[in-house]
Amino acid sequence: MKILFTAGESVPFIKTGGLADVVGALAPVLAKAGHDVRVIIPDYRLIPQNYQNEMVHVCDFEVQLGWRRQYCGIEKIEKDGVIWYFMDNKYYFGRPYIYGMGGDEYERFGFFCRGVLNMLPLIDFQPDVIHAHDWQSGMIPALLKIQYAHLPFYAGIKTVFTIHNLQYQGIFGIREIQDILGLGDSLWTDDKLECFGCANFLKAALVYSDAITTVSPSYAEEIQTAYYGERLDGLLKSRKDDLYGVLNGIDMEDYNPESDPQIAAHYSRENLSGKAVCKKALQENLGLQVRPDVPIIGMVGRLSNQKGLDLVDYVIADIMRMDVQLVVLGMGEGRYFNLFSWAEGEYQGRVAARFTMDHALARQIYAGADLFLMPSQFEPCGLSQMIAMRYGTIPLVRETGGLRDTVLSYNEVTGEGNGFSFFNYNAHDMLHTIERAIDFYLHQPEIWHKLQMRGMSGDYSWDQSAEKYMVIYQGLFREKAVRAKTPEEPNPVVVNI
Ligand code: ADP
Repeated sequence: MKILFTAGESVPFIKTGGLADVVGALAPVLAKAGHDVRVIIPDYRLIPQNYQNEMVHVCDFEVQLGWRRQYCGIEKIEKDGVIWYFMDNKYYFGRPYIYGMGGDEYERFGFFCRGVLNMLPLIDFQPDVIHAHDWQSGMIPALLKIQYAHLPFYAGIKTVFTIHNLQYQGIFGIREIQDILGLGDSLWTDDKLECFGCANFLKAALVYSDAITTVSPSYAEEIQTAYYGERLDGLLKSRKDDLYGVLNGIDMEDYNPESDPQIAAHYSRENLSGKAVCKKALQENLGLQVRPDVPIIGMVGRLSNQKGLDLVDYVIADIMRMDVQLVVLGMGEGRYFNLFSWAEGEYQGRVAARFTMDHALARQIYAGADLFLMPSQFEPCGLSQMIAMRYGTIPLVRETGGLRDTVLSYNEVTGEGNGFSFFNYNAHDMLHTIERAIDFYLHQPEIWHKLQMRGMSGDYSWDQSAEKYMVIYQGLFREKAVRAKTPEEPNPVVVNI
């Protein structure tokens, strides 16, 4: 099949979160299976210079946005069996940030969506499926159906849209979107593009895509409820027959404690001694007391409410009353910057916090920590808990979304489990679960070791999920009545709630 991925970011070129990991890992896996897979992302100025130097110019044209005509260049890099395209426009993407600033995101990503559709005949690529990811690509399925589908070149193209995080929807004024994308008044009703008085890129995709996916089976269920649905639960429920949950994977080669060049020592299931070296190096590098016996609780991720950090805020003094160390790496809300900066001063030598994007340090934390804390309020999939398990660090999570699908809490009676979890979004439930985990660390090392082994043996590869995506793509070309939903296969770990 010919598949085009469209996204706001992709590793190894540019990354702010899990979306980049998913796009960058899934595309090569599908290409390896024999498909013609191409990816397009914006050509941000922040893409490292070595990749900028590798880019080859493919074509350029002008994109009409209302009264503006904007240059649109297409560059490419061929890598891992995939052609990666980069959409160049210095005014929109030559900025010192990726998203979230500038006040003209609707125009930048409106340009991107229009540019993607316009480039296809010019690069001579007629995909069977456009697989659009997150709100930045959300207008592509809508524009395709509304403005392009009558043209023979576009008529047969099917669209799949993946929700990586329903909280980010791309909400703007209707007038602004009409101005740049020329969508007539009759389209702005609540069964089409209008959404609570606004334009909404993500909603547009949910209405106009042929299939919708999200990144874990549990999140696919949760987003059909008011608590998790971010005001789109009704729409998602109405499309439940076209909504699939496919669990993300991680790049098992890249995240491998036996060969990761960025950690202090290598180790494996058979010989964990290198993990102790990684722990010591982490303590030294971050100015923590160098003590092999004290458990390190690690956290890596965006400092946002989504990640359950208000629970940590509420009971941080109780956590630190135990003999533990806490390591935090993340960027985001000032409130949490203040919290962890304060904690670093208050608990000197026991808390270390770094507020940068540092991929090497992230790996050093996955390798050097003992417990990985992820008490998310909601979690579409979550990659960090899988990476942690791969590095023999035991996850402690809240039972939601992809965390629920990948971490099974240790059960003393049956002996099952690969981590620790709690269900209610409650700081003391989290605290008691941390106390329980630390108790196992200190007093039952053989069980701790068993959980480490289970985590390190898990299959977090993309293979199974890539197959599920192929089933979804192929299903789009069958009659809807006979289209099979992806079989409800058991999750890698089925959770005991
Ligand atoms: P989300 O996509 O919600 O941000 P995920 O758990 O799905 O969360 O993916 C986060 C990814 O980004 C992980 O690979 C994590 O290691 C990485 N990451 C997050 N923050 C940082 C940071 N400050 N430095 C390095 N890597 C980070």
